[in-house]
Amino acid sequence: MSEKLLKVEHLYQYFPAGGFGKNKKYVQAVDDVSFYVKKGETLGLVGESGCGKTTTGRSLLRLYEPTKGRIVYDGKVLFDSGDVPMMDEDSNDILENGEPKFGKKTAVDMKPYRREMQIVFQDPYASLDPRMTVGDIVGEAIDIHHLASSKEERYQKIQRLLECVGLNSEHANRYPHEFSGGQRQRVGIARALAVDPKFIVCDEPISALDVSIQAQVVNMFEDLQAEMGLTYLFIAHDLSVVKHISNRIGVMYLGRLVELADSYELIFNSLHPYTKSLISAIPIADPKIARANKRIVLKGDVPSPLNPPSGCRFRTRCPYATEQCAAEVPKWREVSKGHFAACHNLEKVN
Ligand code: SF4
Repeated sequence: MSEKLLKVEHLYQYFPAGGFGKNKKYVQAVDDVSFYVKKGETLGLVGESGCGKTTTGRSLLRLYEPTKGRIVYDGKVLFDSGDVPMMDEDSNDILENGEPKFGKKTAVDMKPYRREMQIVFQDPYASLDPRMTVGDIVGEAIDIHHLASSKEERYQKIQRLLECVGLNSEHANRYPHEFSGGQRQRVGIARALAVDPKFIVCDEPISALDVSIQAQVVNMFEDLQAEMGLTYLFIAHDLSVVKHISNRIGVMYLGRLVELADSYELIFNSLHPYTKSLISAIPIADPKIARANKRIVLKGDVPSPLNPPSGCRFRTRCPYATEQCAAEVPKWREVSKGHFAACHNLEKVN
């Protein structure tokens, strides 16, 4: 599990939000995010709502065209804005006179890659067409990519996919409203699997589900991965779920990655103050241990991505912030093997 299937280098996603010329404003949803996903692994991406996890997942699939950065999938460049350094080099400010700077852009046609790179959406209610039967929803991707040579083969494929996600063949003739939330999410997963993908962005696939169903769906993701050798980017705001399914975990805050490490290392040896506060909020079943566990409560609200704080974006809520934190963006550095963090004061924090 060492080969890198996906590389995201210095990814930026800025959305225009009004104003003209120098006064033009941008929602800085994703800002200089770099990571890779190894073949067959699950990389978890966590952070509170609005931190840019979903935008990162959608941008790397080019459902949103990135503002800047480089995306390499299985050795092929899917997008390159032409002016970003390599992953382990520092990036510069991207706004020049209020406008993003661009180099010579390379953006390939994504259709051949849509088969290999799929997404399971957060909302199983909104992501399925209410006027289509489940059979047609799953079969649509088979039709678009010409994956069945006859009606019978298409029918067999749909039956197999439904069984694969724990539904039965008679469900193919029903409409999405006839299912529970958990079953609808299974339909969404069957649709993603219909094209034999290698890589799936799981965008908060269990957030809309009851807690009792969440475990079933997470287990199903793990079983499918073991069976089909899938690679996941698993996005969620609940660290307790992500640590269960992920090999490595990245933590995002206000559009930037602040820490990334192996799951075990991140949970038991976290370095960044924001990660520590997220970990302290994980519920503990044993009341004795829970009482002994010190909860870190952050003060204040998350600032607006329209006007993020200078330097470290976490500084307005960080108990360890210094003047340097306001003046300089902390460097993304490898603190120990495979453990990355961005903070000026790691020695003070730990
Ligand atoms: Fe806190 Fe400064 Fe570290 Fe940011 S760089 S997390 S503000 S100590």
